[in-house]
Formats: sequence, structure tokens, C-alpha cells
Amino acid sequence: MSQFKRRDFLKLTASAAALAGLGCASIPTRARVVVVGGGFGGDTAARYLRLWDPSIDVVLIERESRFTSCPLSNLVLGGYASMQDISRDYDGLRRHGVQVVQDEVAAVDAAKKSVRLARGGDIAYERLVVSPGIDFNFGEIHGYEAAMQSGRVLHAWKAGPQTEALRKQLVEMRDGGVVVLSIPLAPYRCPPGPYERASLIAAYLKQAKPRSKLLVLDANPDVTSKGPLFKKAWADFYKGTLEYRGNAKAVGIDAANGTVKLEVEDVKGDVLNVVPPQRAGDLAQKAGLITTNNRWCDVDWRSMESKKVPGVHVLGDATLSAALMPKSGSMANGHAKIAAAAIIEMLNGRAPVDPKILNTCYSFVSPKEAIRVSSVHQWDAAKGTLLTVPGSGGVSAARSEAEAAFAWDWARNIWADALS
Ligand SMILES: Cc1cc2nc3c(=O)[nH]c(=O)nc-3n(C[C@H](O)[C@H](O)[C@H](O)COP(=O)(O)OP(=O)(O)OC[C@H]3O[C@@H](n4cnc5c(N)ncnc54)[C@H](O)[C@@H]3O)c2cc1C
Repeated sequence: MSQFKRRDFLKLTASAAALAGLGCASIPTRARVVVVGGGFGGDTAARYLRLWDPSIDVVLIERESRFTSCPLSNLVLGGYASMQDISRDYDGLRRHGVQVVQDEVAAVDAAKKSVRLARGGDIAYERLVVSPGIDFNFGEIHGYEAAMQSGRVLHAWKAGPQTEALRKQLVEMRDGGVVVLSIPLAPYRCPPGPYERASLIAAYLKQAKPRSKLLVLDANPDVTSKGPLFKKAWADFYKGTLEYRGNAKAVGIDAANGTVKLEVEDVKGDVLNVVPPQRAGDLAQKAGLITTNNRWCDVDWRSMESKKVPGVHVLGDATLSAALMPKSGSMANGHAKIAAAAIIEMLNGRAPVDPKILNTCYSFVSPKEAIRVSSVHQWDAAKGTLLTVPGSGGVSAARSEAEAAFAWDWARNIWADALS
């Protein structure tokens, strides 16, 4: 079928119902790869599978209608960017011939090689890619779920409605109020993300509500990423506004009293932004992909194939990170390229090639200035994992406006690399 006719055909068959009908009833005549999760990992995998082998049918299943980026979402909280700036549609992927289905995958049947859609119907696959991101262990903080349901406590650790709701709480808070930002023990999604958030909330308070305070309660003993650079910015810009406390793990919430309970004391706040401990997204649990500490999915780093469920490739934050590998959008993008290349090799009866991927993470320390950390991770045959390349990467020498411009360029580039 010519590319043009094929595209028209795909438009006609892109509804979930049509795909579900195709799924189990008929064996696909060409290899079909189903990708679940239209975030950093899933979108990149879908796009690169089609770019590198247009003969593969690629179906992307995502529950939301649009992509919303966690990177730069802290700027939205501070009022320095809009939700529109950080969201994109899936039309670029459709133009590559990816069949985008807006639905939720309710179950995976790895024996039958099919996924079940929440709205009904099964879709068969030859290989499955899942990049479901994270979900939360709310139970580790007593009273969390009730507090979240009341709307009083937000995490905003998945960009979207909670980002907007937290921004609204900050705007509506009285001058002289206290914002509490609670950070879970690592590993969690985006090691520097909470400290960037602290910087941008402090910047907003200093500018709009100068009598207010931000109290950062970190379950970790100290800032887990780019520590000296964050601390220098806090001392230079936010003295008297931002107070940081390490070894301050949240164990409970009393929403009615506006209190975060630590092991040794209770802390009161007007806005409670409590980020709970995290684990691989619910789908990983349902699909039996979790291997470690009831939280993460171990993979073969040459292919991203699950070590537990053959034929299923796991990407992004859901994976049990290799040594010194952050849970970042940048890494999820790299995982996706490893998986796409390996799947093409495997479908052709060849072994995957040894991978090498790059991480870069920018963080704003003020509305105008940012800092960066980067690293290179390559396959080590003797250790059977990805290891950082000695001497590669590092952190910015100092915060700068140039790094802030690079941060926006990085974001626009990675969104395009995944979605355009
Ligand atoms: C505040 C903040 C700032 C950050 N800043 C940076 C940064 O500057 N740089 C950086 O590299 N990283 C950053 N990150 C981390 C980055 O957002 C994540 O590492 C990245 O999103 C991981 O990609 P993923 O594909 O694993 O998950 P996601 O991007 O979260 O994608 C998962 C997708 O799967 C969908 N999904 C889940 N389950 C199902 C299902 N059953 N059916 C259908 N769809 C489903 C979800 O709706 C979602 O769209 C930041 C994170 C936060 C919270």
C-alpha cells in the first residue's frame, strides 16, 4: 500500500473499536508493536519505530488527549510559563502513521500477546512496549488519600490538572502564609525536580507575597542533585523566604488542621504540596512486570525487554534504574531508542546492538537562570548493565541565563523528537 493510501486507511481504522475488532479476531499480516503510554518514553518509541522501519504497524494507546510535560511544569507553578507552553497534541505521530488510540489499557495478556482496553476490546501485538510512568504509594503517608480527595493536599508530580490546582492555591494564599513542600526518599521521578520547584515557588513568593515562607521538608539527608548550585541560589536569592530541612520525612497528613506530620514534630502550612513515595505505574503492576521492592521493573538494558515477562519492553520511570541513572524524560527518550532499535533487530531475527545513551537535566533556580547536569550511560558486557562513562557529563560551573535558554531549547527539541 502506498504511504498516502496507507495513511488514509489508518485514519479510518484509528478508533479504539475498529482496532479492538482487528485485534484478536485476525492475526496482523505485518508486525504490530503496541505502545502503552504517550509520555516521554512511549511517544519516542512509537515515532522511532515508524522512522526506522515504516513497515511496522505501531499502535499507541494513551489515556489523555494531549501530552503534558513535567519538565518546565515548575515554571507554570511560579507563573513563568503556561499550561499551553508545556502541552502538545499527537498529530505529529499520526502523520508518521502511528495509530493513536485514546483509551486506558486495563490488562495485558502476555500469553495471548494482547492488551485489553478499558472501554472494551483487545488489541493483539507481536511486541509490547509499556512506558506508564509512575504511580504513588499513598499508604506510606497516613491520611494522604483523604487529604488529596478533599482537594487540600496536592502532589502535582504528574503535570496536568494538579499543576493548575497547585498554582491556584499559591495565588490564592494570603501574604504571610506558609507553603510546605515535602520530598520523598529517593528514588523518585526527577531527582532535581523538587529543588527546582522550591526555587520557583520561592521566586514567586518573594515577588508576589513577600511576607510568606516556603518550608522544604526533605526525607533525604540532603539535596539529592546539583546540591551546591541549588544551595548557592537559595542563599543568594531566597534568604528569609526558603527554609530547607533534611531528614524530614512526612509520615502523615492532617488536612483539617493543615498539618504535615514528621517523625518528631508536626508542621503547619497554608499550602501543602506533599510529593508521595513512588513506584512504577499501575499498569506495570497489573501486567506482572514489577520485579524489585514491589516498586520497579528490571529490564535487559540491551533491549529494554522485561526480565520477567518476555515480549514486553518497559521504558522510563517504571524501570529499576541502572546505577547513577536518574528517572528523567531525557533517560526515557534514550530507553525508547534502545527499545525501538532492539525490536527492529529482534523482529528480523538479529540480536540487539550494544547501546549508549545520554542524560541532560536542566533546572531553573530563578525565572531567568538555570543549571544543568548530564551523563553518558553505555552497555558494559562484563557487568551486564548500563554504566556511566568515566569522565563524561558533569554539572554547570555556575547558574546562568544561557543555561536557561538551553533549558527551553532542550525541552522544545525533546518534545519534537518524541512527537513531531
Ligand atoms: C516537576 C517535574 C520536573 C521534571 N523536570 C524534568 C526535566 O527537566 N528533565 C527531564 O529529563 N525530566 C524531568 N522530569 C521527569 C520526567 O517528567 C519523567 O522522567 C518522564 O516523564 C518519564 O517518562 P515516562 O514515559 O516514563 O512517563 P510519562 O512521561 O509520565 O508517561 C506516561 C504516560 O503513560 C500514560 N499511561 C499510564 N498508564 C496508562 C494506561 N494503563 N493506559 C494508557 N495510558 C497510560 C500516562 O497518561 C502518561 O501519559 C520532571 C518531572 C517532574 C515531576
